[in-house]
Amino acid sequence: MSEAGAKPISSNVDTEYPLVHRSRFPEGRTVSIGNVAFGGEDFVLIAGPCAVESGDQIEKAALEVRDLGASVLRGGAFKPRTSPYSFQGMGLEGIELLRRASLRAEMPCVTEVMSVEDIEDMEPRIDAFQIGTRNMHNFALLKAIGETKKPVMLKRGFGSTLREWLLAAEYIANGGNDNIILCERGIRSFSGETRFTLDLAGAIWAKEETHLPVIVDPSHATGLPKIIPAITRAAVAAGLDGAMVEIHHNPEVALSDGDQAMTPAEFKAMHQSLGPVAAAVGRKLPK
Ligand code: PEP
Ligand code: MN
Repeated sequence: MSEAGAKPISSNVDTEYPLVHRSRFPEGRTVSIGNVAFGGEDFVLIAGPCAVESGDQIEKAALEVRDLGASVLRGGAFKPRTSPYSFQGMGLEGIELLRRASLRAEMPCVTEVMSVEDIEDMEPRIDAFQIGTRNMHNFALLKAIGETKKPVMLKRGFGSTLREWLLAAEYIANGGNDNIILCERGIRSFSGETRFTLDLAGAIWAKEETHLPVIVDPSHATGLPKIIPAITRAAVAAGLDGAMVEIHHNPEVALSDGDQAMTPAEFKAMHQSLGPVAAAVGRKLPK
């Protein structure tokens, strides 16, 4: 353990990941992005485009998702694309546009960090770092993010075990930053009809095993806007803490992940369908 790392409070539980293990905070913890708490009574929605494409696009998206019930704005500026020929994101310019949209809409933002060298420029401009599925095993990045003061949304690697996911969280906590939200975003399985397979049981297990909030990303997990509402309702019913959803005003021309983007109207309909499920399990949707 590094000197800076928070020390485990409970030492009578034998675990590989003492800092994130549930025994440290048996009641569980809330972790806040800006003024939005995850892990409390609310089922929190994070929404926005896969990628920041322009100032107008991200600002319009921010105002709209805020009015439709989202509490946190998302938008990628550093995009980990499968092909080097695909749109790679706007980089720091995109971070600045995201920041402006977030201030304008008065909602906090989260965005992916891909490289240690970008942390310093990003940290003052954003409300939370996202570690993407492809970087869950990037230990240099995990260590560096552990030394920051901003909350971290840690996505599960799409080929990673639950143990590896929690050990990645432990890396971050070991640097001194245990404000971590776990995000199950789908793992790779043998069927191609859905883009990935949402491991709902694994997400529930992670919530029981740790003191951290756990959310899902139904957009990347399914790749199919039509079934995102149903899988999100399942996450609400399962007692998870939130969902991150990609929206776009015109998915057909989106520069990344257009196929899985919901329109604002679809997002609105989904939002309306979540309330009764939340009420049935003693949770609520903010606003
Ligand atoms: C994203 O959120 O846009 C993203 C790239 O997610 P993941 O790392 O889960 O693929
Ligand atoms: Mn995406």
